Amino acid sequence: MMTGQLVVVDDGQILFAGGHPTRSMLGPMPNPTTRLILWLAGGRVLYFNDQRKFGRLWLVDDAGLAADPFLARLGPEPLGPAFTSSAFRTQLRRHARAPVKVVLLDQTVVAGIGNIYADESLHLARVHPRRPAGGLSGAESRRLHAAVRVTLARAVESGGTSFAEYVNAARGGHGFLAQARAFRREGLPCVVCGTTMTRISVAGRGTTLCPRCQRSP
Ligand SMILES: [Zn+2]
Repeated sequence: MMTGQLVVVDDGQILFAGGHPTRSMLGPMPNPTTRLILWLAGGRVLYFNDQRKFGRLWLVDDAGLAADPFLARLGPEPLGPAFTSSAFRTQLRRHARAPVKVVLLDQTVVAGIGNIYADESLHLARVHPRRPAGGLSGAESRRLHAAVRVTLARAVESGGTSFAEYVNAARGGHGFLAQARAFRREGLPCVVCGTTMTRISVAGRGTTLCPRCQRSP
């Protein structure tokens, strides 16, 4: 389960860094958030950093992988064929009372949606994160399903919230983070309507939204 960052260092140089972007991702490894160091063949070193200690690591063989209860419960990939609009609607109804953002973050509903992609998808779909999942109309549910796929497809296309993206964004570039609709846009104008973006907490997770485009429940 991945909630932090993976950084690969080759001969003292960062070769790849991906995951939740922070300034420390650019710095020397290991750092105080490093939880795991793997020395790979060929001299490369993989660091797993996780500020919040949500990450888990299991060492299993092939048979154990197939039988793993966590993996067995994982929902469909957001860009895969199993993540259909009607399957998503069924899940929203199953978790009818939960805030819709909490359902998006539930890895048994759809795999791989973290805090950043949830906020981006909800803003694109114009849905307030605290709306009870079961209260979304058919049109809103379809819009949110499409927004998740568009958001993830864009992220994959531009290399995700990776090290290069982080650098690009810091330099005002054109990567995924630089064109983010919600991520780190608290206090800035909404890209759609110009209203000042606000930040709230939804089930303990920092959440940026447009109070005009995403009306309260
Ligand atoms: Zn707006």
